[in-house]
Amino acid sequence: MNDILLRHRQIPNLDQFPIYRQNGGFEAFKRALTSMQPDEVTDLVKASGLRGRGGAGFPTGMKWSFIDKNVFPHYVVVNADESEPGTFKDREIMESNPFQFLEGVMLCAYAVRANEAYIYLRGEFWQLAAELDKHIEYLEREGLLGEKLFGTDYSLRLYTHLGAGAYICGEETALLESLEGKLGQPRLRPPFPPSFGLYGKPTIVNNVETLANVPMILEKGADWFRGFGTEKSPGTKVFSLSGNVAKPGNYELPLGTTFRELIFEHGGGIPNGRSIKAIMPAGASSSLIVADEKALDTPMDYESVPSVGAMLGSASVIVVDDSVNMAWLINKTMHFFQHESCGKCTPCREGTFWMRHLTERIEHGQARWEDVELLNEVASNVKGKCLCALGDFSTEAVMSSIQRFRHDFEIKVLSEAPVSVDIKVSNP
Ligand code: SF4
Repeated sequence: MNDILLRHRQIPNLDQFPIYRQNGGFEAFKRALTSMQPDEVTDLVKASGLRGRGGAGFPTGMKWSFIDKNVFPHYVVVNADESEPGTFKDREIMESNPFQFLEGVMLCAYAVRANEAYIYLRGEFWQLAAELDKHIEYLEREGLLGEKLFGTDYSLRLYTHLGAGAYICGEETALLESLEGKLGQPRLRPPFPPSFGLYGKPTIVNNVETLANVPMILEKGADWFRGFGTEKSPGTKVFSLSGNVAKPGNYELPLGTTFRELIFEHGGGIPNGRSIKAIMPAGASSSLIVADEKALDTPMDYESVPSVGAMLGSASVIVVDDSVNMAWLINKTMHFFQHESCGKCTPCREGTFWMRHLTERIEHGQARWEDVELLNEVASNVKGKCLCALGDFSTEAVMSSIQRFRHDFEIKVLSEAPVSVDIKVSNP
């Protein structure tokens, strides 16, 4: 099923402007500008029940309606800093269905009365940024961007901006700091971006996948969109499937599809006759779920995944088979989080450093059981005590794996009990 976001798989060359136009492209934008008030667009998106696809799942139309209507200018900023390990959906949308994405950005800008929108891309997407720049120039030549569009008083300009490849710049306030040319570190909140965002002005920050839904909602209506997914999580979702699975890739499926269907029907199951052991439903920042019958039959939506001890997040489903020891896996995730901690707050800066060293020690058979308990204690002292979500994210795999896969740690600790081992410490 590729009904909304991955339409390019059904319509060849949809990344070419004439083809996108022939398939109804930019009619929604034209209709919005010429026959709808901005608030009507927001109300329609609200009625569709669309929730942000960046991870938090916040209702999109409601977020748009929070923009401060007493202060101008307004800005739209697109979070295209796709950096979560295991996540590769926004890239496919921007590469293969770029005009639908850009039309979504333009509709959002109109709805929140912004005349400028910035697309913030992760640094490694420099070729993609160049392609988007060409598309934006094309839209300017075609009269779809620029001054007094369709004879109205509305003007709009789009710009791309490359980050430097820092994971923290996917956090919306760090992204805004980076876009302003400062060090990419999160801001204290409140105030929130809809009242104090880019350059201190009201700003809506949305994810790529979220905005790519909007043209189809305008074209086909809120009820049509609600025909997919569940009551509280309507629409489809692009699930990025990776890890120990036969056919990794992006799959667009209704929200509420079960893990079992995604992994075994679409993903072809587990290779080499192995069994499934665990699932990380939201990339490296996810808790590890025990892949039992209950978990496999859990619908992947914002309400159901917490019932098995994790969050849907960005829906980057990483499959782990029975050949993997979790001590090895959390050591890999801690390398990532220590590297990406921006260092602004002490629990995260110090905690990721010590968690990485303890997981290193456990993974290499140089630990006692006390070290596993210490690791759990460090994680619990980081969780909930940091300025931004990265600190919490760094603890999810650690705490859930110690709790749910205790045997893996016992194997590591009991196999090679050390006589005396020093942790080699260098400056974090
Ligand atoms: S939690 Fe980590 S990444 Fe977030 S502000 Fe603090 S140090 Fe930086």
